[in-house]
Amino acid sequence: MLPEPLIAPKRKLVQFLSTFLLLLIPFLRSGGESLLRLDAPTRTLLFFGASVRIEEFFLLLLVMLILVSGFLLATLVLGRVWCGWFCPQTTITDLAEYFDQKIRARLGEHFIGQAIRQLFNLLLALLVGANLVWYFISPYAFFPRLLTGELGGVAAISLLAVATVVYLDLTLVRRSFCRAVCPYGRIQLMLMDENSLALEFDPTDAGRCILCRCCEKACPMGIDIKRGMQVECINCGRCLDACRTIMNERIEPGIIHYTFGIGCAGKVRLLSWKVSLLAGVFLVLVMVLVQGIVGRSEATIKVARGTASEVQRLNDGAVANFYTAYLENRSAKNGRYDLSVNVPAGGSAELLGPVQGIWLPANENRRVVFAVRMARPPAVSQPVLLQLRHDGRTVASAEILFIVQ
Ligand code: SF4
Ligand code: SF4
Repeated sequence: MLPEPLIAPKRKLVQFLSTFLLLLIPFLRSGGESLLRLDAPTRTLLFFGASVRIEEFFLLLLVMLILVSGFLLATLVLGRVWCGWFCPQTTITDLAEYFDQKIRARLGEHFIGQAIRQLFNLLLALLVGANLVWYFISPYAFFPRLLTGELGGVAAISLLAVATVVYLDLTLVRRSFCRAVCPYGRIQLMLMDENSLALEFDPTDAGRCILCRCCEKACPMGIDIKRGMQVECINCGRCLDACRTIMNERIEPGIIHYTFGIGCAGKVRLLSWKVSLLAGVFLVLVMVLVQGIVGRSEATIKVARGTASEVQRLNDGAVANFYTAYLENRSAKNGRYDLSVNVPAGGSAELLGPVQGIWLPANENRRVVFAVRMARPPAVSQPVLLQLRHDGRTVASAEILFIVQ
């Protein structure tokens, strides 16, 4: 019999890649801007090349709902796999424990070893705090501002607060957080059912157990899996690896398995109404988000009437109305925009003012004061259509009332 492979390398790879991604994303750019960042001063979410302004936060809400339903679906099918394989709390705890072991192996409980371990925890905590801040202040601005002491009060306090909490967590709490505090862990327990993925000590195979207790000793949550599935289990698979290691030496298969329901009976029941319902909700939300992004205009125009002398009858009999337009370029590219006007009811109008070749940098607003002039004004006030054009296309429009006094 071939030795059974261990789970640990796969879990470590997943942990490494997810952590690397979390650290890397703030450094990635698209169109000169962060790939993913919430820019608080402009109240804009930079999201993979798109700029989602606060007015469009329904898109962000949709993303949150998709994440939540995706988490719920993953939990229903894969149990607490998030906790053991992806959760940053588990990853930093694993890292701190690994470092502790290495230092203890070299220096024992010597105070220098203890100081090095505390320093490692502190650096890890500062990295976590800085990583969080990078999702609000680009690291390309963060480091120069940090070096010149211009990071800003809110950013500095946030960094220090997160770093302090993480440092205390790494020093005093660690796995107890997952066992007793984590609200997401509690929610997952409510969601899981007897068919969710879990670790099982195969009761039909219990006779082969040599009672070495390696599975128990390997468990970071202090569980004895031989007593059956327990709520604290984070699906990390360490007990499975411990048993496989022992059993590989005896050229026998391990006794502990990942299973969907007892004896894998749950596999066929994975398409239960709960899973189907959640998968349906997830897909509908994804479709609504795609629709929202595809149908999103690259620019907007809002028009307000001018003030005091907003309507003027000119010497030649023409009438002019004065307006202020607020233009916004929501795309990731700078561009030149033009304003044009047409009269849906017939007749002609012209625009007066700086309405051609308006320079609009990406994600920026412009205020343009202009007038609509009608050489042959209608007898009564009527709506006219103002269009914002870019590259020969109308990208936004607004209906305004042309007043004739
Ligand atoms: S019982 Fe096994 S899978 Fe569950 S937490 Fe302990 S070692 Fe990890
Ligand atoms: S590691 Fe395997 S053999 Fe050893 S006690 Fe656990 S289940 Fe039994």
